[in-house]
Amino acid sequence: MTEPAAHTPHDQAPTAPVAHDQAPTAADGMIVCDRLVRIYYGEGIEVQALQGLDLQIAAGELTALIGAAGSGKSTLMNILAGLDAPTAGTVWVAGRNLGAMTAAERLAYRRNTVGFIWQQTSRNLLPYMTARQNVLLPMRLNSLGRRKRLQRAGLLLDTLGIAYCADRTPDRMSGGEQQRAAIATALANQPKVLLADEPTGELDSSTAQDVFSALQTANTELGATVLVVTHDPAVSSQVRRTIAIRDGKTSSETIRHAATDERGTTTLHARDYATLDRAGRVQLPREMIRRLGMRKRVELQEEPDHIGVWPDQATDQEREGGPR
Ligand code: ADP
Ligand code: MG
Repeated sequence: MTEPAAHTPHDQAPTAPVAHDQAPTAADGMIVCDRLVRIYYGEGIEVQALQGLDLQIAAGELTALIGAAGSGKSTLMNILAGLDAPTAGTVWVAGRNLGAMTAAERLAYRRNTVGFIWQQTSRNLLPYMTARQNVLLPMRLNSLGRRKRLQRAGLLLDTLGIAYCADRTPDRMSGGEQQRAAIATALANQPKVLLADEPTGELDSSTAQDVFSALQTANTELGATVLVVTHDPAVSSQVRRTIAIRDGKTSSETIRHAATDERGTTTLHARDYATLDRAGRVQLPREMIRRLGMRKRVELQEEPDHIGVWPDQATDQEREGGPR
């Protein structure tokens, strides 16, 4: 047996090569987006709402999606919900290629595979129906008998803490209660994925917490993979993974994990990452770029275990490239 080399020679591949240029497949997550593009065309202008977005979310995760207004969050959510189609790129949800579905498959997908909650409370529930009737509505075409459906509606309202609203119409419920009833309705057919686009955007912070807790319950007790768009730092700080989207692309993310020290004290640690795309591109955070005065190009220095990124330090003479 030979000893492993202490250093990897520069002309050899690293020991654990990861082909970062390899295309992802449906098996890479419950939600997989590969170079997703959505362009809106209208009146002579085009808006590139998604510009080659990559995203992978594992089954069972509860993930927050954040980003400035206009960064493409709703565009992405509408595509994942099967309400809109990408201009280019591929998206799989629960193993289904959303771009390759027939109209009938798309309908079945929206009915059974994903649940969706809008920001506007009024958009989620039918106003002339009670909370229970709203939850029963998506179930009318499934194979459950009436008793089982009633049971499930009751269970959902109960689990989400709004059993007392079962016989109320939305006008007799608070905003938070309406959103929780909307979550129950979205979960009626046991979708694998629950999508919520700023579900707490119209609510005050304590009500928002109730709605967020209901999303957590949907994730932990009802088993849905949850993706929630939020502006609320109180929400994003409670999830394990927060993904930031900027200019139509995922740009960075934060992963939090609880660590227990030898004295038994548990603290939450956060680690910040930048997205690395298939072509090897990384977006540097704007503040870092500004602080270091980086422009146009940066100097890279490869170290055994990291890459240093430096402001361009070339002299004017080097920049002009003339003979010295
Ligand atoms: P966010 O939800 O992050 O605020 P959106 O996905 O709604 O962002 O929008 C992304 C970009 O696409 C914005 O510039 C927005 O103006 C544009 N956009 C969204 N929907 C449409 C549409 N139906 N037609 C034209 N442009 C749109
Ligand atoms: Mg939006």
